[in-house]
Parts: sequence; structure tokens; C-alpha cells
Amino acid sequence: MRRMYPGPALEGSGTVWHVSGADDSAALCGSPLDRDDAPPAAVESQEHCPQCIELFRDLLRSPPRP
Ligand SMILES: [Zn+2]
Repeated sequence: MRRMYPGPALEGSGTVWHVSGADDSAALCGSPLDRDDAPPAAVESQEHCPQCIELFRDLLRSPPRP
């Protein structure tokens, strides 16, 4: 199950929402996720990581690999 986690933007500054990868330790875009550091409730950003969104769409389009 994919989850959204806040993290620093890859480009520019500020915080964006990343989509978690397979093991929840890193986002799809490769950004490390520190889930204990920034609870989602404290995040004001409405922006999503464009790299994560693009990769997530690819995942939805592609059949799961064995
Ligand atoms: Zn990302």
C-alpha cells in the first residue's frame, strides 16, 4: 500500500508530499523518508513531488512484477 509522506522538495525549497516506495524507507523518487520527523498534520504544504507522482502513475499503468 502506498502512502504519502512529507519531505523536502527535490527542486527548489519547501516541503512536498512524496509517495512511499516499496519498503517505506524511501520515496519513489529516491528521497529518504523520515516518518518520525515531520508528522503529516504539521505539514502545511499542498504540493506533491512531481517525480513521485510521475513514477506512481507508471506503477498504476504497469502490471505488478513478480
Ligand atoms: Zn518524491
